[in-house]
Amino acid sequence: MTNKKDVVVVGGGGAGSNIARLLSRQLNPSMHTLTLIDARPFTVFLPATVRMAVTDEGSLEDRVLIPFDRLLSKGVGEVRTGRVVAIEEERPGSGGHVVLEGGERLHYDALVLTPGTALEGPLDYPFTKEEMLAFIRDWRQKFRDANHIVLAGGGPVNIEFAAEIKEYWPEKTTTIVQSRNLPLHPSYPDRFRSRVEKECRTRGIEFVFEDYLDQEVPKDGAVTTRSGKRLVADMVVVSTGGTPSTEFIRNFDANVVTERGFVRTNPSLEVVTHPGVFCAGDVVDNEERNGLGKYERHAAVVVANVLDHLNGRALSKKYAGSVDTLALIMGKSGGVAFVNVFGGIILGNWIMWLLLSRTMFVPQARRRMGY
Ligand SMILES: Cc1cc2nc3c(=O)[nH]c(=O)nc-3n(C[C@H](O)[C@H](O)[C@H](O)COP(=O)(O)OP(=O)(O)OC[C@H]3O[C@@H](n4cnc5c(N)ncnc54)[C@H](O)[C@@H]3O)c2cc1C
Repeated sequence: MTNKKDVVVVGGGGAGSNIARLLSRQLNPSMHTLTLIDARPFTVFLPATVRMAVTDEGSLEDRVLIPFDRLLSKGVGEVRTGRVVAIEEERPGSGGHVVLEGGERLHYDALVLTPGTALEGPLDYPFTKEEMLAFIRDWRQKFRDANHIVLAGGGPVNIEFAAEIKEYWPEKTTTIVQSRNLPLHPSYPDRFRSRVEKECRTRGIEFVFEDYLDQEVPKDGAVTTRSGKRLVADMVVVSTGGTPSTEFIRNFDANVVTERGFVRTNPSLEVVTHPGVFCAGDVVDNEERNGLGKYERHAAVVVANVLDHLNGRALSKKYAGSVDTLALIMGKSGGVAFVNVFGGIILGNWIMWLLLSRTMFVPQARRRMGY
């Protein structure tokens, strides 16, 4: 038993690794402990995972799965591999324990929750490095073997999948079944969604709009949509946005998790009614769509407020939102992006090629992790 105050961060993905790194620079090791817990022994840099799933070119797994060993400042904090299954709060504001699978309990005075989203199909990753590499190999083989790929859901992930498939095998057919009349969510302007449709069609990607695909396994070389349309298929990829990994938070307090699994916070990114418990990243219940750029701002707010909480001060920072952006990597040669400034700017293939499509920001992600 020490007099140090304990800070625990659950989840070392896009938001949590950033928060843990910043905390390790600002906490005083003579007064605080810091523990980052992730279910995997490495972080997965998601923006590069679609290409990693499709091709072994460049052995992306060697750079996209990034270990935690260089993340934290020397001498401050530790990273644990484990799955948090429960939170036990002493009294609101008085800290408590997180419980790991297997029963170990870790004390916290301040807790940061960034468990992200569990994804589907080729992105529904297992937990050990060995299982992960086997999983990636299996999916690459499936993509290599398939000739007619139908993708259920017309969101960003499936658009990127279809484009990467076309990049490597232009002769394979790719058809996206989308419930709406254009790709993406209607919160994006139609002119951007139409541009995305055009960029897809230019690459040979086909669409079935205003329809659904429930069938995940083709039968007799085809799948049938909800409206009865038969599509030639030997592989189906489902990406409908995933599910927030917040079951353990719901079990802690069902009132702080929405029906869809998002966590209710106040503007300080503190979980409502639970002082000293903070939340960031994909699982925060707000109008924003997911994006790593926003989580730098989440991190700045959470880190300042964790320090305030530990020092018994009123929380000083509020999250005021970020500029909405969406960048679609469509193979190595380009893509299309939307930046919601000046009424909405669309960036096309050339700028995407220059900035993103070749490297997918992997070098920057590795630098952030200390590599
Ligand atoms: C294919 C794809 C492409 C994308 N492209 C872009 C892009 O170009 N630009 C952009 O800004 N954003 C992009 N995003 C979104 C971005 O990657 C996510 O918004 C971001 O990674 C979310 O960060 P997070 O920390 O909330 O969750 P994650 O990054 O998902 O991290 C959550 C972490 O928590 C861990 N975890 C979960 N539950 C537990 C538990 N119970 N115990 C312990 N650990 C747990 C997980 O292992 C994981 O490491 C993309 C996402 C995908 C899927």
